[in-house]
Amino acid sequence: MNLRPPVYVLRLGHRKERDKRVTTHVALVARAFGAKGFFLTGDCDEVVIESIRRIESRWGRGFDVVSCLSNWGQLLEYWKKKWVTAHLTMYGIPALEVIDKLRRIDKPVLVIVGAEKVPREIYELSDFNISITNQPHSEVGALAVFLDRLYNGLKQNIVYRDAKQAVVPSPKGKKIVSLE
Ligand code: SAM
Repeated sequence: MNLRPPVYVLRLGHRKERDKRVTTHVALVARAFGAKGFFLTGDCDEVVIESIRRIESRWGRGFDVVSCLSNWGQLLEYWKKKWVTAHLTMYGIPALEVIDKLRRIDKPVLVIVGAEKVPREIYELSDFNISITNQPHSEVGALAVFLDRLYNGLKQNIVYRDAKQAVVPSPKGKKIVSLE
């Protein structure tokens, strides 16, 4: 599915000891809500990458993952030369005020989410600082709401390459079909 604008998610400052589950959920939300890929900075963590690969082995491939990115500054510099960056933060402009502008961008958008303390430069370097309410909550929640708003509630299901199974929506119970 060709969702516009294409989104890549940059997870800043992953801490191996504390953030495994949350970072994995950030990546899975990115994948499920239509982002094209995921960059992980901070500690290198194979457990996070393996969790994503495990999901892909059943539910399909096509989501790009770059882990162990040591220098987010370089990525941002490169991205900003050609494309657009948007940082999710409670201190930013409410998403509903900028979402129409973002929907009209026809370039890849790098959506940045933090872990603990986000460096000041991120606020300065980002083309947009966007809030999903002005209360502190979670990178997982912020990303899900942002992508859902950007893509207008994803009217069609995303189908990933080489999926072995798919869900059949059912009013009760669980129904899965094999695609093999
Ligand atoms: N106090 C931290 C800071 O310096 O930004 C926030 C940490 S919060 C647990 C982790 C991430 O969740 C943030 O970096 C931001 O990306 C996201 N986040 C939390 N609340 C948000 C909100 N209301 N709007 C947008 N993003 C939010």
